[in-house]
Amino acid sequence: MKESNRELPVLYLVIPCYNEEEIIVESAATIKEKINRLISSGAIAKNSKILFVNDGSKDKTFELLSDLAKKDPINIVVSLVGNSGHQNALWAGIMTASKADIIITIDADLQQDIEALDEFINCYKNGSEVVYGIRNNRDSDSPFKKFTALAYYKFMHLMGSKIMENHADYRLISRKVIDALMQYNESNLFLRGLIPSLGFPSDIVHFETKERTGGTTKYTLSKMFRLATDGITSFTIRPLRIISVLGFITMFFSMIFSILCFIEWAQGKNVKGYTTTILILLFLDGIILLSLGVIGEYLGKIYLETKNRPKYIIDSVIYKETDNED
Ligand code: UDP
Ligand code: MG
Repeated sequence: MKESNRELPVLYLVIPCYNEEEIIVESAATIKEKINRLISSGAIAKNSKILFVNDGSKDKTFELLSDLAKKDPINIVVSLVGNSGHQNALWAGIMTASKADIIITIDADLQQDIEALDEFINCYKNGSEVVYGIRNNRDSDSPFKKFTALAYYKFMHLMGSKIMENHADYRLISRKVIDALMQYNESNLFLRGLIPSLGFPSDIVHFETKERTGGTTKYTLSKMFRLATDGITSFTIRPLRIISVLGFITMFFSMIFSILCFIEWAQGKNVKGYTTTILILLFLDGIILLSLGVIGEYLGKIYLETKNRPKYIIDSVIYKETDNED
């Protein structure tokens, strides 16, 4: 295991990029300026790097990033074959940054305040192995995103997950955490749940979020939905237990109901109630289909896990060689 230098760590800033041609050059310049300031203030080692993961972009992102990497040794580009998704792109970056003492992951659009990096690094120097970035405001989100985020956190807590509220994937992890993550091989990847579950000493840093300066969100509704279900299925089987409980409850009520019907019948009354019959049928069918859906979701996840496919495939790695590289 590589011994990390806590006083002068080598930082790799890992940035997943998917179709970010509108903003990537500007973001790269801002990031480079910040990293250089951190290096000259003695916060991080001078061989710290910016590692862009091109997640199968279909626009000019890859060409723009390659230019940056060929010109300046501070930039490295890891380009994936096809779009593997944000979480897998982050994973690819984390697994490739083998020279890093610490990794900080941040989005390419820099909606997350990059000035918070100093605080992240200070927390690490004070002994934290994980530092979570927590957003102070949700002003830049649409009302729909605000509502779904809130509902999601409530639901996740109900399901027994320990995820941090208002924490996306802006976080620092140390070499110890990276080495621990390397032992995990799950395809159903949800870093926001996985990292807290490791149990390393952690701290939090608050930061302000900004509007996207260019381009649009790369999180489509279906990607958001997939992330949400992955978050649940990768950590808890509580939904399956809820199905069993629902089964017991409906069985209990249907038994009482049948006894009542039987008594009425025995008394020679006509058992009536077309509407109630239809309602009960529809209600139960709803529960059955929902339960099948939940079971199917887990079954699908088992199917994908057993295949044990790689989470990403690297197409190329681009960087500029320097003489004094260690
Ligand atoms: N991203 C990615 N692969 C994807 C979707 C998104 O690498 O399939 C990257 C994207 O380029 C950005 C980050 O993930 O750097 C977060 O995406 P975005 O800013 O669009 O999400 P939002 O901030 O709207 O939730
Ligand atoms: Mg964003």
